Amino acid sequence: MKITDVRCALFGQNLVVRITTDAGIDGLGPIEHTKPYIKPHVMYLREALVGEDPTNVERVMLRIRQRGAFKPWGAAISAVEIALWDIAGKAAGVPIYKLLGGKVRDRVRIYNGSIREPMARFEPEDFAASVRKMKAHPYGFTMVKQGIGFHSGMKDVGPEFHYGDKRPNPFHSWVSRGMLSERGLKHIVACVAAMKEELGDGIGLALDCGPGMMPQDALRLAKAVEPLNVMWLEDMITGDYSPYVNADVYRDVTMATSTPIHTGEQIYLRQNFKDLIEKHAVNIIGPDPCDIGGLAELKWVAEYADLHGIMMAPHGTADGLIGLAALVQVCAALPDNYIAFELPSGKPDWWHDILEGLPDPIVKDGFIDVWDTPGLGVRFNVDKAREKLAEEDKGFFD
Ligand SMILES: [Mg+2]
Repeated sequence: MKITDVRCALFGQNLVVRITTDAGIDGLGPIEHTKPYIKPHVMYLREALVGEDPTNVERVMLRIRQRGAFKPWGAAISAVEIALWDIAGKAAGVPIYKLLGGKVRDRVRIYNGSIREPMARFEPEDFAASVRKMKAHPYGFTMVKQGIGFHSGMKDVGPEFHYGDKRPNPFHSWVSRGMLSERGLKHIVACVAAMKEELGDGIGLALDCGPGMMPQDALRLAKAVEPLNVMWLEDMITGDYSPYVNADVYRDVTMATSTPIHTGEQIYLRQNFKDLIEKHAVNIIGPDPCDIGGLAELKWVAEYADLHGIMMAPHGTADGLIGLAALVQVCAALPDNYIAFELPSGKPDWWHDILEGLPDPIVKDGFIDVWDTPGLGVRFNVDKAREKLAEEDKGFFD
């Protein structure tokens, strides 16, 4: 089998990569929403892919992997990798998880991720109200994650939250960085306590915190919430769109607290997880299959993390419904250090009309049942999907 073409088009908020072959089998690869600018990067890879056998996934990846980097520049490479597995699975007549070693579990735990109510205020009662809605959601979440501190609007409320500058950024809202004020730290802890009060001990609470905190503040927060048994504190120091890791700085915090410390959503390739894992710099890592370099890359990192006592909670909030399918495939095959993945959604809602193959409802009692259809197990309803294409992308399905 040979690759005949590589295409890329925007459906609503998410770019989708489609790889075609001379066997009539195609593969789909998801790209996080908010990244329409990645399309030229995908097309730049085309000449390295056409003519290759897509079922030799690793050999094909060796031709393009060096053309990626930390988020957002791992997206095109990762989408191609996922599309190759989709083709390989369809060609073999098996779901991708079989090619990654087989499923370890029949259903995968998820957490709310993309399902979050925008908050107008950031007082403890507002955080309590937000998780109250999550608790009542028909998906039956067994754990929820909430943004706090620099990963929320609370950093912009009042001048006293931290000692750094408020720095507007055209690309990303989480760019504040600096030492917390005492009021800022106390406010974060009060909001966490209010959420725990609401959730009790039956629904786990994870917290996305940055990036932007200074190490000593990260440690103070981690120690202050120790009695609350939160699931993790994520990305306190580095994180989303940080083009580096800083494992030693994380290690200083992790070694001094019993609160689990989490990072890794922006990191590209196993080599860049080496320090975090070997130094036991965090307790939980959260690579995104759409940024790390794909499904096999994430699976390898999970196995290596497990050897070192480090847990896995893959990122995925913006990966769209094809990304959701990819996450289910790889998470079914991860070892017991797997906790849950962050649930993506189809945006806009019509994504649920143009894509077939997902269970309905997608989530039951906080889990997704792993399906057994070949490849990713999802496919476009071409007639309906074609209507959503911009004029320049009309040839996507040809
Ligand atoms: Mg995060």
